[in-house]
Amino acid sequence: MNFNSFIDVKSHLHSGKTTCVNVIDYFLKNITEKNTLLNAFIEVYETEAKAQAISIDIKIKEGKAGKLAGLVIGIKDVISHEGHALRASSKILNNYVAQYNATVIERLLAEDAIIIGRQNCDEFAMGSSNEKSVWGVVRNEADTERVPGGSSGGSAVCVQANMCMVSLGSDTGGSVRQPASFCGIFGLKPTYSRISRWGLIAYASSFDCIGIFAHDSKDIAAVLEIIAGADDKDSTVSQKIVPEYSTLLNSSKKYKIAYLKEGLESEGVQKDVKEATALQIEKLKSAGHILEPVTFDLLDYSIPAYYILTTAEASSNLSRYDAVKFGHRSSETTDLMSMYKKSRAEGFGKEVKKRIMLGTYVLSASYYDAYYTKAQKIRRLIKNEFDAIFLKYDFLIMPTSPITAFKIGELSDDPLAMYLADIFTVSANIAGVPGISVPIGEDSQKLPIGLQILANDFQEAELLAFANTF
Ligand code: GLN
Repeated sequence: MNFNSFIDVKSHLHSGKTTCVNVIDYFLKNITEKNTLLNAFIEVYETEAKAQAISIDIKIKEGKAGKLAGLVIGIKDVISHEGHALRASSKILNNYVAQYNATVIERLLAEDAIIIGRQNCDEFAMGSSNEKSVWGVVRNEADTERVPGGSSGGSAVCVQANMCMVSLGSDTGGSVRQPASFCGIFGLKPTYSRISRWGLIAYASSFDCIGIFAHDSKDIAAVLEIIAGADDKDSTVSQKIVPEYSTLLNSSKKYKIAYLKEGLESEGVQKDVKEATALQIEKLKSAGHILEPVTFDLLDYSIPAYYILTTAEASSNLSRYDAVKFGHRSSETTDLMSMYKKSRAEGFGKEVKKRIMLGTYVLSASYYDAYYTKAQKIRRLIKNEFDAIFLKYDFLIMPTSPITAFKIGELSDDPLAMYLADIFTVSANIAGVPGISVPIGEDSQKLPIGLQILANDFQEAELLAFANTF
């Protein structure tokens, strides 16, 4: 039996071949053995998880257990879980304890999922390497000298290293798909508005999505169908009915698939990544799907548009951290102004400060139209380009990342190179469409390579069914 697969564990729990207590013990043991080095969990709820396991085992015997009984899940440090510390990996949220449950947490707990711990990430989900965290760097289990990707690096590594079955992360510009790719697992960013953002610490509200990491499409489907859907607490969330994704995974359909030419041809894409992607295209063709190359004319504009719009939103969202009611307050303050200034100067890390300043700049009166308005227009054009592609094709595929996991520190002095590594992931957030990263092989150094599959709005059922064939 495979403890790392929820679907497998579920069937064994219900036939009495194992118990939630056994399952929890398995994960706690792995955490004890591996987490000190990997630094992926920043807090483990050992006592709570064990107690929950005992009570769920009783419920299973009585036939009263929820749909996620037996699921052991970890949560990125940006999702509010009542009574538990919440920091967004930042000093500014020092000593903050979550006051309420995010909608996703409510729904997980209502179906008897066991939340095993809180996971490391880049500060305020800003980053692609999980090196910028008050908790320190996270290491990739495939090579512990390398980064796991980011910003949800801790969440990816916890699944990669079998320290939990599934993780929840957040994806504003690739933060679920890129670390999934670097760590050799599956990572889904659903359609914008598919999952309530209530209780998710905001980075760029019109881009932010809660996403799911797992070893396969089946476990993602099982979790997505529980946490997605209408919620009175988030006015942007979709009212559309949530399909039962887990019952729609077996598809023998032959799809029409576009592949991004730039993904195979651009100079910036690593040779091994190109080869692995080309090989997948051939495999899909021989499986009977129709594959055709497409170009994405606005690809070069996606990174600038993303960094203008998200920093603008971040500068506004992060203004709430003012040291008045919660979080870090400087001990050097003399008056109200100095309290704001010193607390924020001490509390935020460099990357976050850079983005707040950049966002404030692009929103300033004299530059608003030159940057913010222009980027909004690009956003619409990118959405139009996706619409045109999905009119003709079921999916658009490309590498998730142009490169595989880089060495810790390797790109720290080159922010542009780090931002450029998001080239294939940010467009999905700009347009709001869903995407998944699936593992398709390894490079010459045995580092995982991921393929990104994008679909039209609310096509998660087809996307997960197709991903399930990998
Ligand atoms: N790497 C991107 C950034 O630094 C994406 C982050 C995210 O998706 N949260 O903004």
